[in-house]
Amino acid sequence: MALLVQKFGGTSVGSVERIKAVAERISRCRDEGNDVVVVVSAMGHTTDELTGLAAAITDTPPQREMDMLLASGEQVSIALLAMALNQRGVAAVSMTGPQVGIVTESTHGRARILDIRTDRIRGHLADGRVVVVAGFQGTSSGAGGVAEITTLGRGGSDTSAVALAAALNADACEIYTDVPGVLSTDPRKVVDAQLMDEISCDEMLELASLGASVLHPRAVEIARNYGVLMVVRSSWSEAPGTRLTSRRGRVLNQAGLELGSPVDGVEQMEHQAVIALSHIPDQPGIAARLFETLSGAGINVDLIIQSTHDGTSNDITFTVAETDLDAARRVSQTVLDNLGGELAAEGGMTKLSISGAGIMGRPGIAAGLFHCLSQQGINLRLIATSEVKVSCVIDADAGRKALQAVQEAFDVDDAQVVLNSDLNSSNEPEVRGVALDRDQAQLSVRHVPDRPGTAAALCSALAERGISLDAIVQSERQHGDGSRDISFILRRDDRSLADVALAPLLAQWPGAALEEGEAIARVSAVGAGMPATPGTAGRMFRALAGAGINIALIATSEIRTSCVVAEQDGVAALQAVHAGFGLGGQEQRTARGSGSPLDS
Ligand code: ADP
Ligand code: ASP
Ligand code: MG
Repeated sequence: MALLVQKFGGTSVGSVERIKAVAERISRCRDEGNDVVVVVSAMGHTTDELTGLAAAITDTPPQREMDMLLASGEQVSIALLAMALNQRGVAAVSMTGPQVGIVTESTHGRARILDIRTDRIRGHLADGRVVVVAGFQGTSSGAGGVAEITTLGRGGSDTSAVALAAALNADACEIYTDVPGVLSTDPRKVVDAQLMDEISCDEMLELASLGASVLHPRAVEIARNYGVLMVVRSSWSEAPGTRLTSRRGRVLNQAGLELGSPVDGVEQMEHQAVIALSHIPDQPGIAARLFETLSGAGINVDLIIQSTHDGTSNDITFTVAETDLDAARRVSQTVLDNLGGELAAEGGMTKLSISGAGIMGRPGIAAGLFHCLSQQGINLRLIATSEVKVSCVIDADAGRKALQAVQEAFDVDDAQVVLNSDLNSSNEPEVRGVALDRDQAQLSVRHVPDRPGTAAALCSALAERGISLDAIVQSERQHGDGSRDISFILRRDDRSLADVALAPLLAQWPGAALEEGEAIARVSAVGAGMPATPGTAGRMFRALAGAGINIALIATSEIRTSCVVAEQDGVAALQAVHAGFGLGGQEQRTARGSGSPLDS
């Protein structure tokens, strides 16, 4: 007999018929002899509708009242599902998050789970009941110890389910939704998206944080950290869906289920070189030509960063192994000969990375890394950020000092340090999936001083307000006064708060000013085999060039490559990149089976 946690999303319980169908499914699972804890979302679009009601009253609803409002959605569906189960003769009891004892931080609207009391649930299971728990909500002890309702953030029922599975030490956590599992991309935007049998938690974390809304990134983080067996499958069929794979999990964190440092490793790659091309024309196809020529010459490029200046020309900076420095310089020069622009190349670099899960979701972590390096007087040549890794390229001379400082800052012992890892050991696909995020905005800070600590100060100021940034790009190009520009992207929701957060810094930096970017979309490719496969970036840029799409910004990390494009090009860019990597297949519509909401 197994203990299963099964989560049903909004569409899966979107109507009375659907609730009855879910009850029937749970009943069969009970008949097979399993203990079942069910987590449900609010019915259909309830959460959106409730948000709309609030917006019709005020632009600035108190977060406490928003939580009070939104938590009501899940309370409806748990009661109805428990009724449907009892009606079928399956003993069931519904419980809100506070009734279970899902204890969270007090941050309304995006609370993290600290602890889940399991005694009441276990009692009901022992008495033979199915326990139906409201997803997305918990309780915190507010001011004066009065219990407050909190919510975990949009899409947070996935996180409730996996956290319950971890706390109960369940045999599996099954996420039932309106697609057959995790697909190579969003089937609503690309009709021939393909189902995956399995995906690693690291890849899924990247995809989820880059816009693949099928899973809440924090749910994947918990599954990875605690080794929860997690499956995503359709609530319309019996097909097995997609299994998430992870290494062995750790024991439950006493400091708080979702707390603790997300950093569990430090990596250092020595003998790196940086090639910087500047003042190259801002036209589609140039990045494609450059990186195709490099891979044609057998050169494996690691990090790539591109930013646009004054809307007319681009800087592209990338890193290669030092042994490839001369060849990369020669090849880049031949490309530049036809275009114009300047080239600088420099060896003697080291890449230092922190790795883990949920790094970008906690903005203080990247800021902490940059701060730690700036305290040592170390200048950052290149920065690459992602949900599972943040890397900095620095002078090799500073490598040893930097490693020691970072290990201390993040409490990482020697056994968790990887030096000069071998890239050739992977059998993973270069690209497993692609994702689109249209909720991002681009910002540039012009004329920031060129000295250690600038990126750290910027990140810290934003982190203090809970703002994460992605794709932080420092220009190679310097202004006449020696200052540089830093561009980054952030969630559009955080855009106005960023003004407030950055104002004190801008006042300290003479001549510095914020510049608004255009409306953007970010398209990203993710694959564990990417670092070991030469030419991945070139193929992605070629796919975009082939669709006539200009790339405004490029940022890579170890297992992902992201391109920022104009917002109106977003879906076309996603389709082009999906096709460019050969991820499409026969249309999924027929394979998905009848009755699926995507068919209608
Ligand atoms: P639920 O209400 O069940 O939680 P969501 O709407 O949150 O469902 O997530 C399922 C949706 O995620 C799908 O309908 C699909 O449009 C979208 N999606 C985005 N990227 C992917 C992907 N890579 N694989 C599967 N679905 C995806
Ligand atoms: N009902 C919440 C939402 O729509 C939580 C969830 O469905 O996961 O965001
Ligand atoms: Mg969801």
